Formats: sequence, C-alpha cells, structure tokens
Amino acid sequence: MKWRLLFGLLAMIAMVPLFSQTEDDRITIRSFYDEALTSRQSYHWLKDLCAIGPRLSGSESSLQAIHWVKGVMDTCGFDRVYLQPTLVPHWERGNPEKAILYDSKGGEYPLNVLAIGGSVATPPGGITAEIIEVPSLMAIDDIPREEIEGKIVFFNPPFDQTNIGTGASYGSNVGTRAQGAVKASQKGAIASVIRSVSSGDDDAPHTGTGHYEADVDSIPAAALGVRSADIVQHVLKLDPHAKMHLEMSCKWFEDAPSFNVIAELRGSEYPDEIIAMGGHMDSWDVGEGAHDDGAGCMHALGALKLLVDQGVTPKRTIRAVMFINEENGTRGGEEYADQAVKLGEKHLVAIESDAGGYSPRGFGITADEEQRLKLESWLDYFPKNTISYMSKGGGGVDIGPLHRADGTPMIGLSVDGQKMFDLHHSANDVFSAVHPRELELGTASMATLVYLLSQYGL
Ligand SMILES: [Zn+2]
Repeated sequence: MKWRLLFGLLAMIAMVPLFSQTEDDRITIRSFYDEALTSRQSYHWLKDLCAIGPRLSGSESSLQAIHWVKGVMDTCGFDRVYLQPTLVPHWERGNPEKAILYDSKGGEYPLNVLAIGGSVATPPGGITAEIIEVPSLMAIDDIPREEIEGKIVFFNPPFDQTNIGTGASYGSNVGTRAQGAVKASQKGAIASVIRSVSSGDDDAPHTGTGHYEADVDSIPAAALGVRSADIVQHVLKLDPHAKMHLEMSCKWFEDAPSFNVIAELRGSEYPDEIIAMGGHMDSWDVGEGAHDDGAGCMHALGALKLLVDQGVTPKRTIRAVMFINEENGTRGGEEYADQAVKLGEKHLVAIESDAGGYSPRGFGITADEEQRLKLESWLDYFPKNTISYMSKGGGGVDIGPLHRADGTPMIGLSVDGQKMFDLHHSANDVFSAVHPRELELGTASMATLVYLLSQYGL
C-alpha cells in the first residue's frame, strides 16, 4: 500500500511539468484559432492581394503582388524579410481566344475556350478544320494517322465524379492537358483541344500548363468549358464532319526577372534548424488566383503573424515563403532549394499549402514513419473539425526541389477539396469564392503545426 502511494506521488511529481507544458501549449494554440477567427487577418490580406489581379509569372501584376506582400511583411515585426531573385518564363495569352463549332447545315455554336498555358498561337485569322474526338490521351495511340492528319483533335475524357478525393480525378486527367498537343501533333493534327479538367457544372474553361517537345511540331492547345465540350460531343455524334474554328494569339517572351518573398522568425535555441512553410505567389492569368494559391500564401504569412501576435518565441527558425512560378516552371521552388544547398541551410521540414483556402482536414506527410507518428501524436492539439489526420504521402510542387536536393521531409496541408476543381485555373477562382472562417481555420492550423515543430522538433 505504502509503495503504491509513494509510486503514485512520484508519478504525479513527474507529470507536473509535463502536464503544465501541455496546458501552456493548448492555451497558446487556442489563442491562434481565437485570434485568426476574430481578426480575419489572412482574409483581409487575401482581399488586397486579389485586388491586384491575376499574377502569372513574368507579368507586371505578379511583380506588383510581390512588392505588395513584401511591404506587408515589413510591417509585421518579423526578424528578417527578403526577396530571393530568379528568372521566370514569360508567356502571354494575347487577345481573348475564339472558338466556334460549325455543323454541315450552317449551324454555328460559339464555344468557351482558353489557350492552355504556354500554347503557341494559331496563324492570324485562326484555323478551321474537322474534328476528331478521342476519349482519352492514350486512346489516340490506337487511331490511324490518316484519321487524324489535318484535323483538330478533341480529347474528351470525363472528370471522374465518383472519387471522394477530387485530386485523384484531377490527377488522372491532367496528363491530357499537359501532353495532348504533343500526342496529337505526332499524328499530324493541326491543333489540340481538351474538355477542361473540371469538376464544375458551368462553362468556364480551365487552363493550366501544357508541354511541347523539341522534336515534335508545336501546335495550338486549348481547353473548352465542360458545357462547350458537351456541345461538341453532341454535334459530332449527329454530324461527324462538323468543323471547329480556333483563333489564339498567345506569345512567348524572354525570361523575366522575378522573386520569391521570404519572411523569417529566428529560433531562440536552434536557429539553424529551419521550418519553411509556404504557398505560391503566381497564379494563372484568369480569375484572381484566390484559392490557387493566394490562400496558401496567406495561410503561411498569417500563421507567422499569429506567432508574433501571440508572443511566441520559437525555439527553431520559422519561415513563410511565397514561391514564384509554381504554375508554369517551378523556378521559385528550384531557386529556394539551390540557395539552401549553397548556403548549407538545414531544413527540419518544409510545409506547403496549395490545395485551396477551404476547411483544413489533415496533413499529408513525406517523412520517416517515426516522424509521421510523432506528428500523429499531436493530433489532439488541433480543435475538432480541423486537422484530424497525418497521412502518409504529401508535399507540394514548390517544396519538392528541396526534398529532392537534401531529403528535407515534406508536409502538405489537406483541405475539404469538394469545390477546388470547380474553379481551379478558371476565371471563377476569385476572392468572393473564399470563406473567411474556412481560410482562417487553415491559417491557425498552419500556425499550430509550425509552433509544435518549433518547440519539439521532428
Ligand atoms: Zn497552386
């Protein structure tokens, strides 16, 4: 009995500091959520950012956004704010694209269309040709060249609406957007159009990056809104000789100077251990890049500001990195990794938010299993209905180069993704599509994660 009492007392004494530390952490973390939900700072910043307009790499407005965000960071009380220069590709869409479907009986159907990023232009005045519908990227391999030569290939794979995780459906169709023009050109087509990679029920076309190959003729590449794609599909069924007119005036320019923007809070005990979190400053040139990826940038910036406002002195160094050129080149992510290697920086972990400003759900982890289990043991710190899993596999395009360069573990924020691919890369990705509470829950969740990492390592 006595032994048991003594044992109990000893256990209680041992638990006191642990218990109070945990309680302190809980109070700090709660304050992140309270502050984010009431101040809505990330949301207000996102509004200002979106007001600048779309931010395609190399554009004037992308530079404006870069200088705007640096200006904001300068007022936040961070230890260091700096620009990291890099060259980025510079492509412009030119005049609004035109696409019209003509049936053999004189019927005319205007179509909603966007050039795929990086596309070449059509000749002035456009092209008009018969269309061959191809159900998927791979299906073109089985079609004889004679049936394709001189035509416009219409890749028409449907978006798989059965996946609960819409990212999987996006992932299985995005290859068509990227490779369609090369595959079509190899068989003698004069242009390639695709059904937009979209879960949406509207007719806004979705752009995104496309590829050419040096030894394959570059042909114009475009994406139709899903309703427009339905029209083409329907008309072709009745009239296989229907024709499409396509007019695009896109242009390539020399690489342009640009920057990553970085804000830093210096670690008090382990300043050389860096936790980097970020999103990408560039967006496509339609819409406002609100969810993709203004939201991710404001998650990172807002999280760093929450630490300052709540009086947190992190033990390890924390950075908010606004990467440039995620959409069509990844030059920002590569430059960040190059500089980290050159300067011998040691990153504890890199975290990316590029899934939209929706309600946070979990984190995807690319790290040792032991590290993932450590992260999983922190789940209890996150309020219910925010972060509920630390799953295997995750990261992001911007932090990928660092991971590949020196093995830095990667974490990607997962959000409730049901709406993301309705508007991703389309004119509908605008500020009004972002909900303040959903965005701020993401910001506070990022703050919580970097706070725990800075205090306890990985
Ligand atoms: Zn993105």
